[in-house]
Amino acid sequence: QHHPDRSTVWVGETTKVPVGPDSFTFIAGPCAVESPAQTLEAAEMAKAAGATLLRGGAYKPRTSPYAFQGLGVKGLEILAGVRETTGLPVVTEVVDARDVQVVAEHADMLQIGTRNMANFGLLQAVGESGKPVLLKRGMTATIEEWLMAAEYIAQRGNLDIVLCERGIRTFEQATRNTLDISAVPVVQATSHLPIIVDPSHAAGRKDLVVPLSRAAVAVGADGVIVDVHPDPETALCDGPQALLGAELRSLAQAMRQLPPVV
Ligand code: PEP
Repeated sequence: QHHPDRSTVWVGETTKVPVGPDSFTFIAGPCAVESPAQTLEAAEMAKAAGATLLRGGAYKPRTSPYAFQGLGVKGLEILAGVRETTGLPVVTEVVDARDVQVVAEHADMLQIGTRNMANFGLLQAVGESGKPVLLKRGMTATIEEWLMAAEYIAQRGNLDIVLCERGIRTFEQATRNTLDISAVPVVQATSHLPIIVDPSHAAGRKDLVVPLSRAAVAVGADGVIVDVHPDPETALCDGPQALLGAELRSLAQAMRQLPPVV
């Protein structure tokens, strides 16, 4: 059973996109913003597949400090330009409280990544940003810790929070993380906040993105967020999990074939 007062969070200014119980929100885009052309191409692929929000990282919290760290403010400007061209509101990650203002000036929704779920200063800063927040689950966080992280944002007056299950660390090595699909109904029973699923970062491999997205629809998630790239082999970040445009369209089709959860 569901929490009696489940919320809808609206994202975007010119185009307002709902995330909540009365819709299924399809978010797609490149893992990282690499160039204006790559971002625009990925956004057009996302839009052609039916996505209504564009994702893309300008600040990339990588495991290795030697890996591509993102284009920073230049990446934010690219995202804002692509929003102008495509009309898709933008979701992008912020990794440092000092960058919240500049990210909020360019983006429609601020993402807190798995590595920063318990960065309480950052959570408080996005709580004061005036923008909706996509709060990913910490890869070693319990559901209760995750909901408490959301409270840090809410406590600063921002109730526009969407949770994102993106897989947790387990003993299993076949996938990068284990998608905890049970988190969706557990959260929906205990919290009013919408919850979406990130099959791309959970699995780390693209062959699992379709089945995990279908699982997300079947379990009643409020949306999915998926990586797409015009040329995954040359991607600067997480190429193995990125779908091509045609694959993203097949994914959308595969999700539509499932009956809506009542
Ligand atoms: C991302 O969505 O770009 C990302 C890095 O995800 P996560 O924080 O879940 O690893």
